[in-house]
Amino acid sequence: MLKLLFLSTPIGYLSSGQGGGVELTILNLAQELQKRGHQITIVAPTNSQIPNLNIVEIPGNSQVSVQTQSRDIPVIIPPNSVLANMWEYARSVQNDYDLIVNFAFDWLPFYLTPFFTTKIAHLISMGSMTNALDHIMAQVALNFPGTIGVHTKSQADTFSFANACKILSNAIDISLYEYNPIPEPVLVWVGRISPEKGLEDAVKAAQITNTKLRIFGQIQDTNYWENILTNFPNSSFEYGGFLTTKQLQLELGKGKVLLMTHRWIEAFGNVAIEALACGVPVISYRRGGPTEIIKHGETGFLIEPDSVENLVNAIKNIDTINRYNCRKQAENEFSLSSFGDRFEHWFYQLSD
Ligand code: UDP
Repeated sequence: MLKLLFLSTPIGYLSSGQGGGVELTILNLAQELQKRGHQITIVAPTNSQIPNLNIVEIPGNSQVSVQTQSRDIPVIIPPNSVLANMWEYARSVQNDYDLIVNFAFDWLPFYLTPFFTTKIAHLISMGSMTNALDHIMAQVALNFPGTIGVHTKSQADTFSFANACKILSNAIDISLYEYNPIPEPVLVWVGRISPEKGLEDAVKAAQITNTKLRIFGQIQDTNYWENILTNFPNSSFEYGGFLTTKQLQLELGKGKVLLMTHRWIEAFGNVAIEALACGVPVISYRRGGPTEIIKHGETGFLIEPDSVENLVNAIKNIDTINRYNCRKQAENEFSLSSFGDRFEHWFYQLSD
């Protein structure tokens, strides 16, 4: 049995949606490892209450997310930083744990690594973003071999220390996602509403194919969203809000396809496996994590990045995909049991 201290993302509280896919990853991993008898404590910003999980809530100001910043931005930490407060707590209790697991895509936890006496595993949730982070992560990769985990090879390849990364994929609790064999004639787009997610391409494709588009997710960049509303006044898309997993899977299941139109190298793309679990094929730009998830022609289509024309053509062919194959792929490749095995193995290795 391992005693593990998870340090959550300092972007927002758990289930706020501000942290993106990493929030679901933390919950799934904690639940799966707890089920196996390990003792998990999650340190997270105030308001992060999740039933049946032991959460230590820490006050303080959130970090600003790095994905829309320039590469040469220096390290920014606000006054009374929740990130710093969370790590101060970790320092004070570290001797009670076998291993600390960092889920924050931030400079501070990497910098602090040599100063801790308890070993730290880092699960990196995005590709390379800033020079300052790349630099400190590379130092940890060099000085603490085996402590850096990523989700996909595409993500690892954005870093100079790609070969030092452990590739762990990702998973969901399939039992929470209902298979829906009969879709409505709607396209679905799910994600944080922020420029790197390229929502406008999905809106354009919906307009050209004259199909309704339903959008779900946290509006992270209000200006970006307002521009979309202004630029596509007559388009038939509807915004369904930020939903819980239970509601989201119901809405996802109604879609005839999930569109992934990201501009960045998506590290993984949780929404892809959530859609597959509902029996929904995925059309994605051939960029980042989704290229390692979607089976082209079998559970969706991987298309030329940034080409709305190709998006439109793929939407026209979506009925050639068998929805049952999508569900089966999710069950076979993205279940929590094999994910739990990989992490358990990694954590035992590090805590020796
Ligand atoms: N999500 C959600 N409710 C919504 C829309 C999205 O809970 O209404 C979650 C979704 O389940 C997924 C995450 O937001 O876990 C998005 O993660 P993804 O890996 O696709 O992208 P990221 O935001 O990490 O870049």
